[in-house]
Amino acid sequence: MAETVCGNCDKMLDTEDFDVEPCQDCGKWHFCEKCAEDLKKYPPHLILCQSCEIDYEDAMTEYDDDF
Ligand SMILES: [Zn+2]
Ligand SMILES: [Zn+2]
Repeated sequence: MAETVCGNCDKMLDTEDFDVEPCQDCGKWHFCEKCAEDLKKYPPHLILCQSCEIDYEDAMTEYDDDF
């Protein structure tokens, strides 16, 4: 059984649980059902850990500069 903590709220998670969703970019961090729901509710509507979220925002900022 693989155990980890939620990348958002530090709740203990079992990564084999179907409700646990991994970071869509690196897959290293997992999020509990509640945090995954919150992440999908607000832009950019992706389940990303903090480091991937920063990468994503950097990429979006660079993209905006092209206009
Ligand atoms: Zn959580
Ligand atoms: Zn990640």
